[in-house]
Amino acid sequence: MRLDKFLSNMGFGSRKEVKILLKKKAVEVNGEIVRDPKVHVDEHVDQVLVGGEAVVYIEFIYLLMNKPQDVISATEDKYDQTVIDLLAQQEQHFDPFPVGRLDKDTEGFLLLTNDGKLAHELLSPKKHVDKTYYALVEGVVTEEDAEAFKKGVALDDGYVTKPASLNIIESATVSKIELTITEGKFHQVKRMFESVGKRVVYLKRLSMGPLSLDPELGLGEYRHLTEEEVISLK
Ligand code: URA
Repeated sequence: MRLDKFLSNMGFGSRKEVKILLKKKAVEVNGEIVRDPKVHVDEHVDQVLVGGEAVVYIEFIYLLMNKPQDVISATEDKYDQTVIDLLAQQEQHFDPFPVGRLDKDTEGFLLLTNDGKLAHELLSPKKHVDKTYYALVEGVVTEEDAEAFKKGVALDDGYVTKPASLNIIESATVSKIELTITEGKFHQVKRMFESVGKRVVYLKRLSMGPLSLDPELGLGEYRHLTEEEVISLK
C-alpha cells in the first residue's frame, strides 16, 4: 500500500498531514528517509519509523458502539446518517462495517469491524451466538409468552423461531422484559412479540456472545475492544 495511506491508517493524520510529515523528513522506511507519499510499503515486511519510533501495523479494528435511534446500521444510506458517520476519520480509514443489523429505532450494543472472517462467524446461524435485548412491550407479558418463546413461535412468514429465553422484569400494560435469542432474523424480537399479540415500543440490545454494552458509552459513542475481548469472540 502507499506510504501515505499506511501512515494515515496508523493514525498520523490525513494524507495532507502525512505529506507535511514526509516533507519534514520524519519518516524512514527500512533505514532510509522517504519523502515521497507514493512509495509502496509492504505493511508486513517493511520497517517504518516516524520520528525514530517504529510504527506497528494494525490490520483489523474492532469497535463496540452504543447505537442511538435514527441511525442506520449500514455503511451507507441515501437518506439517513449511518453508524459509520459516527466514527472518527481515524477509524473510517479502516473501512469497518457493522456486524449484523439493528433496526433504525433500536439502540444499544453494536460491533463494527473490518475483520470479515470474524463477522461471518459471529453471524453464522450455525454458531448460535446469544443476543440479549431489553424491551418495553405494549401489553401484559406473561409466563405463557415465556413458555411459547421457549418452545418457538411462528413468525408472520411461517418461520418457527429457535428456543429463546424470556425474563419478565415487570408485567404491566407496558411490560419490561429481557429476551435472549440465538438467531438474527429480520425484526426478530418485534415479530416474536407480534406473534403473541404484543408490540415492542422500545428495543435495546444489551449483549452479544460474551460481550455486553459498556455503561461508560453514551448513545452514539464507541470504543475499541481490548485484546482479551477480541479473543473472547473467536
Ligand atoms: N430484533 C428486532 O426486532 N429489531 C432489532 O433491531 C434487533 C432484533
